[in-house]
Amino acid sequence: MSGAETSELRSTAAAPRFDVAVVGAGPAGLAAAAAAAAGGARVAVIDSAEQPGGQYWRHRSEAAGVTDGGEYHHGWREYLSLRARFDAGIAAGTIHYFASTSVWMARALSTLPETSFALELAPAHGGGRSAVPTLRATTLVLATGGYDRQLPVPGWQLPGVMAAGGIQAFVKQNGMLPGKRFVIAGTGPFLLPVAANITQAGGSVAAVLESASLMGWIPRAHRAAGVPSKALEGAGYVAAFVKHRVPYRIRTVITEILGPDHVTGVRTAKVRADGSILSGSEREITGVDGVGLGWGFTPQLELPVQLGVQTRVDVDGSLVGVVAEAGRSSVAGLFLAGEVTGVGGAPLSVLEGEIAGRAAAGDATGTTASLTGAERRTLARNRSFAEAMHLAHPVPAGWADRLTPDTTVCRCEEVTVGEIGHAHDDLAAHDLRTEKGLTRAGMGWCQGRVCGFAVSCLSAGAGAVGGEAMPSAGDAAVSLAQSAKRPLAQPLPLSALRNLD
Ligand SMILES: Cc1cc2nc3c(=O)[nH]c(=O)nc-3n(C[C@H](O)[C@H](O)[C@H](O)COP(=O)(O)OP(=O)(O)OC[C@H]3O[C@@H](n4cnc5c(N)ncnc54)[C@H](O)[C@@H]3O)c2cc1C
Repeated sequence: MSGAETSELRSTAAAPRFDVAVVGAGPAGLAAAAAAAAGGARVAVIDSAEQPGGQYWRHRSEAAGVTDGGEYHHGWREYLSLRARFDAGIAAGTIHYFASTSVWMARALSTLPETSFALELAPAHGGGRSAVPTLRATTLVLATGGYDRQLPVPGWQLPGVMAAGGIQAFVKQNGMLPGKRFVIAGTGPFLLPVAANITQAGGSVAAVLESASLMGWIPRAHRAAGVPSKALEGAGYVAAFVKHRVPYRIRTVITEILGPDHVTGVRTAKVRADGSILSGSEREITGVDGVGLGWGFTPQLELPVQLGVQTRVDVDGSLVGVVAEAGRSSVAGLFLAGEVTGVGGAPLSVLEGEIAGRAAAGDATGTTASLTGAERRTLARNRSFAEAMHLAHPVPAGWADRLTPDTTVCRCEEVTVGEIGHAHDDLAAHDLRTEKGLTRAGMGWCQGRVCGFAVSCLSAGAGAVGGEAMPSAGDAAVSLAQSAKRPLAQPLPLSALRNLD
């Protein structure tokens, strides 16, 4: 559905109207809401989760009365301070918080004197109707974050294999582990906090396997030096790894996950820069009941794409929203903040949220809001760090070569590498949509959120997109844009559709 669409799915005349709507209550959304309220706007915040915090500050259940002391978190003090501003806005009636509520569709209404947005809401967990099924806002901040990017590997469909972020989310939310002894594999600094959280929660980590060589940091060391807090955080992980004797192996990948009906171990190998396996480097790690995989993050772009924002493929191969100053997207009145503008970590998300929230309030209330010099410099330093991180930890070459014809790619619909290859080679399926139509890859429960990247690469005939290894970026970008195009941004009960005009 294009942003210019004016047809009414449901009359919006009676829908509650806000100056600013913020979707997402993670680091970016919380900051945007607090800044917009401070700017004098009446703000609606809609978030699928039961409580604020997003992925980074996911924490123990407030509803169950469990106090979280922040022991599994970084920046917990910053969360508490943002949360205090957020709660003060709620108490003052300037912030209206819709928890456990998903925005499943967003529309730009061009029938009004000025552009405004209509958001369709549904309960995030289960059936029934949202008390407010539709709301309108003059300006909109989308801070919908992202989720772990996954690549297939033989055996990854076994119980006990999770996204690395899934393991961390489990620990942060429940204070316990989904297993006892883990291997964490993939690429990027995010593998480190996951392993550290596991040891903190009383589990053990048999190995952290990083596919990159880390040499990619050398020409970009100055960019890392620009954000010293990251180096400090890294030093903390090194200390934790030494204390708990966690082996950290570079240029190492999992070639197969083993187990009859649950993970019991992994096969690993050292790889060269071109992705080929170093002969004689193969090993087996046994006695493992959990594997966490993470290859960076995929921004959650359904709502920006529904509204027709301009997108681009970032250096890490992710499709992200294009933004100008203050998080302004290509659609008037629509701001983007946090991971949807490019994956860069929580502190950058907070800053982007703060700036976008202030600007969105300014536009809605007719005041001006500009960036300070210090904000510009901090944004530039953090973005430069993020780019260095992506370039130093690319999706590795050769991942597709290690798959076997019977490796499952789409776990929902159980579509294999062989089936995708057949559709590509014999039936001219060279993009995700055609692959989906012919093989059902991406047509299941997760709607391609897990397999979309891999199917996009495989259908474009590439083993990797993004960074320095981007052989078919154009094709893959088209495919990635297709995979983000979902008329329903979130799963929803049929009753939400039944009630439409
Ligand atoms: C599982 C996981 C663990 C992570 N852990 C770390 C870590 O330890 N260290 C680190 O540096 N980075 C981590 N990251 C990256 C981290 O997500 C970001 O740096 C930071 O949280 C981004 O903030 P954000 O506000 O952009 O998005 P998020 O924190 O992802 O928040 C987005 C929010 O939007 C909500 N949402 C999304 N779509 C909708 C919708 N349609 N309707 C309503 N609500 C919606 C989500 O429920 C979520 O609460 C992690 C990411 C994930 C996925």
